[in-house]
Amino acid sequence: MNSLLAMGILILTAAVLFTPIYGLYYLAKRLWGRVMESAADKYLFSKIDVKDAESILENKFQYFQNLNDLEKKRFLKRTVHFLINKEFVASGGMLLTEEVVVLISACAVQLTFGLEEYLLETFPKIFVYPKEYYSKYDHLYHKGEANLNGAIVLSWNNFIDGYNKPHDNYNLGLHEMAHALRFDKFKGEAYDAFFAQYLDKWHMVAMEEFNKLRNHQPSFFREYGGTNFNEFFSVSVECFFESPMEFKNALPEVFKHMCILLNQNPLEIYKNKNFAMEGSQRADNDFQLQDPMFYESGTSVKNSLALLFAAGFWIMILINAFLEKGNGTLVFFSITMPVAGYFITNSGFKKIYFYSNGIEIKYFLPRLFKSKEAYPYDKVICIEFHEKTGIESNDGIQVTYLDEGSIKTKNFSAELVSGEVLKIADLIAAKKTAVKLNAFAHYKKITNTSG
Ligand SMILES: [Zn+2]
Repeated sequence: MNSLLAMGILILTAAVLFTPIYGLYYLAKRLWGRVMESAADKYLFSKIDVKDAESILENKFQYFQNLNDLEKKRFLKRTVHFLINKEFVASGGMLLTEEVVVLISACAVQLTFGLEEYLLETFPKIFVYPKEYYSKYDHLYHKGEANLNGAIVLSWNNFIDGYNKPHDNYNLGLHEMAHALRFDKFKGEAYDAFFAQYLDKWHMVAMEEFNKLRNHQPSFFREYGGTNFNEFFSVSVECFFESPMEFKNALPEVFKHMCILLNQNPLEIYKNKNFAMEGSQRADNDFQLQDPMFYESGTSVKNSLALLFAAGFWIMILINAFLEKGNGTLVFFSITMPVAGYFITNSGFKKIYFYSNGIEIKYFLPRLFKSKEAYPYDKVICIEFHEKTGIESNDGIQVTYLDEGSIKTKNFSAELVSGEVLKIADLIAAKKTAVKLNAFAHYKKITNTSG
């Protein structure tokens, strides 16, 4: 028992010493971060005349005019950062003035103002023509484009027209920036992770309206949105900023999920509220689960390892106790260890329950803050079913969902029954949640929405 006591004292001493050292390290790291950030700001603002940029925004960019002082500061900083990050190319006799590059940059910042990543890094070059330009690829005149070669092309007369008529649902700049943002997801290295994941959810929610356009039925959006999903997204973005109230009234669910996707609500900007600080559009609300449908559960690899570890530890203790010729220790450990092992093994054990209106995740042991989590399908982005392959011992379910403003993923190992997977996949898809079936070869007919 002496060695046990010594070990306890050692651990306690280490903890007492380590805590303040770690605290100091953490503090130093944060201070250094602040210093570096303000140095980066100074460097950025030395590259262009920031006062000029600010007065251009203040005089000519309505979105900026509606922001409060704190947001204006953030918007200006992002605009300058975007501007010096891009190579603007004067094309077709265009004269690139400071106003041109500031307003084009501001357009990109408007679209991405609620997101963390806003540089659209897949697109290093922005070509600006004075008016519609001739394309040698399709022998047609174009107003603008964002192509996968990394170029955004804009005609200045149409760009300005988009902002001069702020409520006609045509805005060339926002349209092309929306293409760029979406392409960033597929090609970029520094794309916005939330946007990239949540676009699947928006896709599911907006599918019905997209299909209307495809079938030439009347829709809130202009017909061009039915060309493909890429155009549909850009057309929706134009309406989102140009007539948010009409959008919300016509398609409340699609509008709501676009607010979450872009983390901003144009209706609130016009009321000059503090809208775009990270996470605010993505807050949660309570809901009640109804009608249990199906559940799936299982132990994970982590749990199996914990069990193995606990068993090994117990055997070692037993051997040790026997070598010491048996005493109270043996009795003590032979009672406590199996109990501890049981709890260790099951501490990570979780079950997923599917209800008609949402999912529930339950834990064997109470979590620190909650032992039960419930999410309406509205908050579930994607559910992926994975059939075990050769070396795996279990099938799996992966759930991606929105929780208190950020995207979380949980994995469950499970024994999946094909018929039930099909049933549950149909239910989930009908609830406008993306479903992915991995290695379920014979069920591939269910729409995969990752495109
Ligand atoms: Zn387009």
